[in-house]
Amino acid sequence: MADPTTDLESLLAAADEGVALDGLLVERTDDGTYVLETPESREAGLEGEEIERALESIPSLVSNWRYWDAIGGEGTARRAFLRWCERAPPTEDRTLEDEPLEVPERYDALEDGIVREWGQLRITGELVDGGEGERRYELRHVDDADRAREELERQENPRDARELSTYDGDGRYRPLKTAPTLRSGWVFPELSGRELVDAVEFFYPATIANWHRERRGELDVDHWLETAERQTGIYDVIDELPREAVDWMAEACCVDSQCLRRREWEYEEGDELEPEGGDGPFPCREPCSLVVAAARKWAILESEAERTYELEFTTSELNQLAELIDAVADGRTDEIREADVNDGANRYRARYLRAKRFDGDGGLEATKRE
Ligand code: SF4
Repeated sequence: MADPTTDLESLLAAADEGVALDGLLVERTDDGTYVLETPESREAGLEGEEIERALESIPSLVSNWRYWDAIGGEGTARRAFLRWCERAPPTEDRTLEDEPLEVPERYDALEDGIVREWGQLRITGELVDGGEGERRYELRHVDDADRAREELERQENPRDARELSTYDGDGRYRPLKTAPTLRSGWVFPELSGRELVDAVEFFYPATIANWHRERRGELDVDHWLETAERQTGIYDVIDELPREAVDWMAEACCVDSQCLRRREWEYEEGDELEPEGGDGPFPCREPCSLVVAAARKWAILESEAERTYELEFTTSELNQLAELIDAVADGRTDEIREADVNDGANRYRARYLRAKRFDGDGGLEATKRE
């Protein structure tokens, strides 16, 4: 627990260089007296006990300073993220925060807990009881917002986030950490600021750093073409993917339903892709390895010439093919009940179609037209 006396001593020591944070300004002047400025008042010429008494009358501004002084890392992504967690005005540009909270209202809000969402993570920042401004953070899945803490699997070590994020709720490996398939049912009940940042980075690597770069106007985006052209080896072919296929690829992989990063890369500078980039708080600065790997497959497939085939289908069967593709593309196949034969992607309906229309080798019976 922090000692308020030490807080004052360290604040006055820091005042030699000047203290300025969240509406609190303390400066030691050349004659050895202090200037104290708050959003409400300004006093100058304060000596020893006067400045101490004045500071004791504004405990939240002092403890707020202490907390952020202990966090340190001025200008770093870690500090900016923790300030975002409690809606503190950003140091870079106040307009970056929708509704910044000044210290008095922020302290009131922290009493109840300030909630933020980062992808599928739900972060609640709170003041520690009697902790002189110390904050603690709870981290859980957004889907568990209303569940009692006791119902959730308790986690302590931020490193455990790595394991939690490896498999989805059905035990399937998650190749893309920012896919919206994070499993729920766990809680990190009491993380320090540093531990919170570590846990978030284990769940969603590099998201805080890229978010911070973007806020500072320093996000270096690598668009599709430059990424594709610098590939070598087996990925050398991806720059042959036709322009329109890159639109289809972004729609297949990068929209919010598939990835929580907000795609900021385009085909190339000045040539935007058709699908929306998404609404997530953290940006995607370049095509990821999953997209590059998939692009290789599409580049090979797109190099094939189109042909015309003749197939026999009833109208309902043709519609059923569309329903099947939709269900697979939207990941709905597990939800379709076996008894629901009205759904074209129902397993029995699919098996029936296969039995009727496929040849003995498992392919569609079709005739190629020359
Ligand atoms: S390239 Fe697309 S799928 Fe990959 S991380 Fe970026 S937005 Fe997500």
